[in-house]
Amino acid sequence: MTEEKKKLKVAFPHMGLIYIAWSAALRKIGVEPYIPPYTSKRTLSLGTKNSPEAICLPYKLIMGNFIEAIEGGADYVAMITSPGCCRLGEYGAGINHALEDMGYKANYIELTLYDGINGMLDFLKRVSGKTDYILFIRAIVLAIRKVFLLDDLQARLSYCRAREKVYGSSEKAFKKALKIVDEAMNTRQMNKAKKLAFAEMNKVELDENRDVLHVDITGEIYLVCDKFSNQDILKELGKMGVETRKSLTVSGFLKDAIIPKIFRKGETHLQRANRLAKPYLMRDIGGDALECVSDVAYADERGIDGIIHISPFTCMPEIMSQNIFPAMRENCDVPILPLIMDEQTGKAGYLTRLEAFVDLMRRRKRKLEIEKRNSQQTTNV
Ligand code: SF4
Repeated sequence: MTEEKKKLKVAFPHMGLIYIAWSAALRKIGVEPYIPPYTSKRTLSLGTKNSPEAICLPYKLIMGNFIEAIEGGADYVAMITSPGCCRLGEYGAGINHALEDMGYKANYIELTLYDGINGMLDFLKRVSGKTDYILFIRAIVLAIRKVFLLDDLQARLSYCRAREKVYGSSEKAFKKALKIVDEAMNTRQMNKAKKLAFAEMNKVELDENRDVLHVDITGEIYLVCDKFSNQDILKELGKMGVETRKSLTVSGFLKDAIIPKIFRKGETHLQRANRLAKPYLMRDIGGDALECVSDVAYADERGIDGIIHISPFTCMPEIMSQNIFPAMRENCDVPILPLIMDEQTGKAGYLTRLEAFVDLMRRRKRKLEIEKRNSQQTTNV
């Protein structure tokens, strides 16, 4: 690649905080990342206008991100794809053709995650024009470390948000932590960033005795991870004193799709899905349906207060999983709230449903505690 070509800007679509990882990998190999404006109503409107009406919400948002990226000066738009039984396998071709039809000149390039490390190396080679595989491995390791650290920090944020003494203090600390992580560019800096970022989070004043509810968030991975598309559900629940745990995370996905077995510790999400979903769903039907079904069983197994399932309107695998949940009630005594999101979803009605669900979980928790106390008293008598 010539000196001039090295200045090409490469953009990825947004999905939560993933931009921090991919932009670091690109910077590491000497390619300029172009981070499109964070997904907004404008993005959604652009995407919706230029997408098939019945396609799922992530497609529309990704399309909007690409349009904004190209308008902002990106030379390459890179799409993360993976094969599958649902429409995800068709996303790339659909978006590429639509961009061409709209007359956009940016180059479309794909990163197929299920090609594992080789797919990533090939991608980095194509965007950089280099063949320095050592550098590519360093860039991949840096991005993966950032993904894991960001997921750990988000878990800490969720813990703090449900217990913070001063409203908004966890968010403020989290923003500082993100900046620290974003700036780290090698192993030494990453080790330091991890300490500093958690130190920021630990400064948040907490009420450790607060009676907090525990809720798992499952569903289609894009919606679970992306706060615009899920209307910032984790924050809304945090305000109501709920500690959330995302069942689907990018780090969890990487463990199954990219990271070699020898580097993995414990059971992966997919392995657990195969173990726990089996009585209800016998095989992978695309998207995250198998994982979602198993997540309900896993939430029940741990005795947590509830589980929320978020899916995009018309998402085929999640329509299937939502139809399996009623049959699971026989064995799984955990409250489930299914939420279906599309471009029409209004915040007020959605918050009302969340509040009602939180209310239900609190009453159920109190009832279970009273029953437990009564049964202990009976045993003592
Ligand atoms: S999992 Fe659902 S939302 Fe995601 S691409 Fe497949 S159909 Fe669309």
